[in-house]
Formats: sequence, C-alpha cells, structure tokens
Amino acid sequence: MAVNKVKGTYDVLPSESYLWQALENQIREVLGQYNFKEIRTPIMEYSEVFHRHTELSDMVTKETYDFDDRGDRKLTLRPEGTAGVIRSYVENKLYTSQELEKVYYIGPNFRYERPQKGRYRQFYQFGVEAIGTVDSALDAEMIILAYDFMKRLGLKGVRVKINSLGDEESRQNYRKALEDHFQPHVHELCSDCQQRITKNPLRILDCKVDQKHKAVKEAPTPQDYLNEVSRAYFQKVLQHLNAAKISYEIAHKLVRGLDYYSHTVFEIEADIEGFGAQNALGGGGRYQKLVSELGGPDLGGIGFACGMERLLLALEAENVAFAKESELDAYVIVFSEDLKVVATKILYELRVSGVKADMNYTQKSFKAQLKQALKMNSKYLIILGDDEYQKGVVGIKNTKTEKQEEVVISKIKKYMTEKLEKK
Ligand code: AMP
Repeated sequence: MAVNKVKGTYDVLPSESYLWQALENQIREVLGQYNFKEIRTPIMEYSEVFHRHTELSDMVTKETYDFDDRGDRKLTLRPEGTAGVIRSYVENKLYTSQELEKVYYIGPNFRYERPQKGRYRQFYQFGVEAIGTVDSALDAEMIILAYDFMKRLGLKGVRVKINSLGDEESRQNYRKALEDHFQPHVHELCSDCQQRITKNPLRILDCKVDQKHKAVKEAPTPQDYLNEVSRAYFQKVLQHLNAAKISYEIAHKLVRGLDYYSHTVFEIEADIEGFGAQNALGGGGRYQKLVSELGGPDLGGIGFACGMERLLLALEAENVAFAKESELDAYVIVFSEDLKVVATKILYELRVSGVKADMNYTQKSFKAQLKQALKMNSKYLIILGDDEYQKGVVGIKNTKTEKQEEVVISKIKKYMTEKLEKK
C-alpha cells in the first residue's frame, strides 16, 4: 500500500532543494553581517515552554501538536521559534556572559492549521532574537534587518508596518479600554472573541471572523494609551528608521496576537499577486516578560520570524531566480563491469581534488550511456573503454566544443584540474 505525506506537509524534491539551500545561504550571509550567531534548539520541548499560563493565543491553545512520550512526559512540537530560544538562553545562563545576545535560528515549526497556499502544518521559519538589552536602536535594527533582507532577495512590493503597544502600564490601560469597549458587544462577537474579551482582548483585533464588525473597526488603538515614556521610545525607533531611510507605515491596529509583546510590534508584507490573505512574510516585536516567565531574570528582548515557504513563493511570483546548482564537471562512462573498479579510483582522485564528478552505474550500451551522460549536463565526459584501458588511456571529451583527447590514466587528475582551473 502506498503511503502519502501527512496533510499540510510537502516534500522538497532534489530538483528544488537548491532553492532552499540558496535561501538559507542568503539568510546566513545577511544575518552574519548584522552580527547574529546561529542557535539550534530542539524541535520538541516540554509543553510548558509553549503552554505557559499567561499565554492565550490561538496558536498556543489550539494549534500545537502535543503528545505524551513513552515516559508520560508532556511534549510539544515547537509551533514557533522564540520560546525555545528563550528556554535555552535561560537554561544556559547566556545572560551571564553577554549583556546582549544576538541569535538567529532556521528550522521547522508545526501548527495544526487549515492548510492552504502558503499555509502548512510543517513550515520553516528563520528568526532572530536580540535578548538582554532594551534599546530603541535595537528595535530599529530588527526592522531594518528584515527590510534589508527582503530587498536583497529581490522582492519589490515589500512594506513595513509598525506600531507600539507601549510599556506595561500603557498596555494595561489599553487592555482595560479594549475590554470596556467590547463588553457591550459581547454577544455579537464569535465564541472565541467572547472568551478573549477578558483573557486577551488585543487578540480580538486580529480575529478573522469578526474583522468586519463595527466594534472591531471602531476599537481604540494602542497609540491612544501610550504613556510619555512609551511615546518617546517609539519616536526614537522611528528616528532610527528615518535615519536609515527605511519606509514604513504606522499601523494603528497592529497588535500581533501573542500576549507577551510590549513596545514595538511590526510586520513585513509583500504585495504579491495571488497571495491574498497570506501576504504577511514575517513579523515580530519586543517582549519583556518572556525571559522571566521561563525562569530567567527580568530581561527584555526583541525578535522577528519570517516564513520561508512564503518567501520562496513570493520570489517565484516576482520571477526572482536563484542560481542553479553548478553542473557536473566530469562524468565517467564505463564499458565493462571490471573497469568500474578503475572508474572508482579515478572518481575518488577527482573528487578529492575538488572536481564534481560522477559515473554511470548502469550496464547499458555505449550509446545509451552517452545519451544519459548528455542529460547530466557534464562539462567533460571521461570514456573508459576496454581498448583504451589496454593502452593505459581514457578519452576525455569536452561536451561544449565536442573536442576529444586521449589522456594517460595516471594524468587524468592533472589534466582535469588544469582544464577546470581547480587547485
Ligand atoms: P507568526 O509566528 O505567526 O508571527 O508567523 C511569522 C511568519 O511565519 C508569517 O508571517 C508567515 O510568513 C509564516 N507562517 C506562519 N504560519 C505559517 C504556516 N502555517 N505555514 C507557512 N508559513 C507560516
């Protein structure tokens, strides 16, 4: 019986994997320039890393893959990157060695969502976290980095949306105002939002069901409740963005559903045809309580995460191409089973010298092997026949010029590395 892939997952086939590699290379290059170092945390964590009592986003309450392991431990496949990174930051006491830890991660996340184009149950994100220091310049750096990265990829319709939720006091005041605002409409809202009114009213603003409700449209915005300190902090962030000439839009209703954000929140969108509602490429924000909630000191951080499938779809939609993998340098055609041993030796020597080489493993006729060899798109063909072998030579054919030369077997490595200008 054939078994299919799990709903909401996909395979990256050999013909496409170069796209992922190119994207990952680009991520590592740009993040390195901003002085972020990679952190790799496990895909599974104890459930409490994500299911904290204060956390009431839909993602955390409904969408996670939770399971008991054979030792009856409650585990969760990570639905996002930040919490695991913070768990590691605290567990390894990274705050004792650096005042500011700048890290990035690349890897799969899991959410039990309704799959559609650009939305999967296993999906990849890369993300960054700058933990330990609160500074408006860092908030701006995150946004600049996200914007710069997308621009350098070649995406055109990139938009930065930014807002501020303010410090704890501002947030609490805003929360209260939202609660008062929604309370008279409680029975007109969806059942989820009825719960959210007291638990996390900010989340109502993100609700897909109630998006068009008058009460949602007329809801107060966080900006109205920023205290002086928070207002000044936000102005500083904008000043930095202006200095770097990053264009942005202040999105008064942007709150991002997670309960832990404070001060700056932002999203990066792309205007791409056919993307519809899935046009958010990434988003993030500052958090203050997360480190202490996971058992660490009272230190703040800021981070952002970006969906990699959506980036690749966006690149495809905008016809931005990554360079394909380089073609084969040499492909060995062998005439008899016995000569395969000689081919193995030739291949080993070539590969050790940096030549990208392969051989034909089938027992086909010369004609059939040649046909296959041409399909491999190799720069050179090394033809190892019985007669040639008796003379101690091979034929080496340049597939572009079609010129063929006889080369002594012991000189193949020298000949090829010179032709290919390898070390
Ligand atoms: P979030 O962690 O929900 O803020 O998502 C950050 C980014 O990850 C989004 O802007 C998307 O690009 C991407 N993303 C989130 N959920 C999914 C999903 N289920 N499938 C694919 N990409 C996703």
